[in-house]
Amino acid sequence: MWYTGKITEIKEQSPTTKAFKIKVPEVEKIDFKAGQFSVMELPIHERRTKRRRSYSIANAPDGSNVLEFSVVKLEGGAGSTYLCDEAEVGTEIKLKSPGGMFYLPADTAKKNLVFICTGTGVAPFRSMIFDLLNHHKPFKSLHLIFGTRHESGILYREEFEKLAEERADFSYDVVLSRENHRDFQHGYVHEIYEEKYRRPDKNTLFYLCGWSGMVDEAVKKLTEEIGFAKEQVIFELYG
Ligand SMILES: Cc1cc2nc3c(=O)[nH]c(=O)nc-3n(C[C@H](O)[C@H](O)[C@H](O)COP(=O)(O)OP(=O)(O)OC[C@H]3O[C@@H](n4cnc5c(N)ncnc54)[C@H](O)[C@@H]3O)c2cc1C
Repeated sequence: MWYTGKITEIKEQSPTTKAFKIKVPEVEKIDFKAGQFSVMELPIHERRTKRRRSYSIANAPDGSNVLEFSVVKLEGGAGSTYLCDEAEVGTEIKLKSPGGMFYLPADTAKKNLVFICTGTGVAPFRSMIFDLLNHHKPFKSLHLIFGTRHESGILYREEFEKLAEERADFSYDVVLSRENHRDFQHGYVHEIYEEKYRRPDKNTLFYLCGWSGMVDEAVKKLTEEIGFAKEQVIFELYG
């Protein structure tokens, strides 16, 4: 089902990334599972099939009709440039009911959940993490590993730092690939999980989200090199 949403808030999250709130006044509540995405139809091409782009929902389901998204502007990218440079508060956005298979199992009580992402790939994990916490869903541990080039690219930093301070069962690693910074590790996300999860164990589930370079490499390392079962490594590819 297609809705006509309206942008109600735009915030700069980094020099290249913006956070959007889109309200869908046609309904009181939008149903989705934390981790799912919505397809937007944007005015960027004459042919309808070329106007569609997918974006992960960044907020946890809260029974409202507001969805949040985090969009990075890609050089030469039609959809992301439209959203980041042309869309404004009040702009109408046509979007489809949320979908996709990237969500957590119903029972995570015995699971160590490891979320690995770069850039806007953090969006579905923000939704999953706050969904677990808001609804007091049980889990063994949560570990968010976030990679970006520079400190200025760290998305939702305050929220995750606060959680890491408050909760012993949540850990948060930020790794910067192009900046040496005394507060953060330098390098790539791979080094973090390779160090911490050296031996396969049945209760750990890895969720990976982002562009194919990072995701393909992580799937290979976790399954072929470390030996986790394929079912323990679930991923969402942005392109
Ligand atoms: C399920 C799903 C969820 C997604 N969620 C998000 C999200 O939450 N946030 C988000 O920002 N994006 C997300 N994406 C990606 C998004 O759908 C678009 O693909 C992205 O915004 C680029 O679209 P565009 O129209 O700007 O670029 P296009 O006009 O489609 O392509 C522009 C150019 O960019 C190139 N390109 C592709 N990938 C990259 C890259 N990594 N770096 C540089 N250039 C590249 C392409 O080859 C092409 O030449 C998601 C994709 C999927 C499939």
